[in-house]
Amino acid sequence: EFADTPLVVRDLRKAYDDGFVAVERVGFRVERGQVVGLLGPNGAGKTTTLRVLMGLTMPTSGDALVFGRPLVPGSPILSRVGALVEGPGFLPHLSGYENLRAYWQATGRPLEDARFEEALEIAGLGDSVHRRTKNYSHGMRQRLAIAQAMLGLPELLVLDEPTDGLDPPQIAEMRRVLRRYATDGRAVLVSSHLLAEVEQTCTHAVVVNKGRIVAAGPVDDIVGESPSVQLSVSDV
Ligand code: ATP
Repeated sequence: EFADTPLVVRDLRKAYDDGFVAVERVGFRVERGQVVGLLGPNGAGKTTTLRVLMGLTMPTSGDALVFGRPLVPGSPILSRVGALVEGPGFLPHLSGYENLRAYWQATGRPLEDARFEEALEIAGLGDSVHRRTKNYSHGMRQRLAIAQAMLGLPELLVLDEPTDGLDPPQIAEMRRVLRRYATDGRAVLVSSHLLAEVEQTCTHAVVVNKGRIVAAGPVDDIVGESPSVQLSVSDV
């Protein structure tokens, strides 16, 4: 079941050891071709949800199925998912390109040059990919981190606050990158605390507040229609 669906999250609950319930009754899907925004203020449970679906944290109950299976270490499904959940560090004296090659070699997976180049192309790194990362701007560093998650062109791309600290033109660029990525049957799940950003970059949104979903659906239906969305976002 769900073997062809990038992500199915079902009735997820996560209570931390101290008893704090960070996520409750969270369920949604990410289908091929969609860029889904997980939108909510700080502390809403976005990172917890992404960590559960990446197999970095165990849920208290419910589950998250990636192509029909929960992600566990060593799972063959892992090669079909790319994630930026914790900001990666880059070696400052190597170029962006060299950093990505080194990262990919460390994964031990075969390198398909064409896919590697296509990921760099989609991420819009341009010639500066050959400069040392110590000279990168914040925006360039973010783009490199996203390119890293895209290497191998995984069918599901999961990004935690990828536009954090970017300026409006860079966010507009992100729209191009994510929309382009979600073609050829690929899908993207991206978290954000900015309504405008989700509006600009996503096809669908799942709005969370205090660990629960308050609205979900195509972005055009969500934005402006739901008072609860305005409420949760003004909480930021
Ligand atoms: P942010 O944008 O700040 O990362 P978020 O929506 O991603 O917010 P989470 O990081 O998932 O939210 O955190 C949700 C809630 O769970 C927060 O109130 C946080 O303090 C709490 N929390 C996170 N990790 C733990 C932990 N290990 N133990 C206890 N509480 C935690």
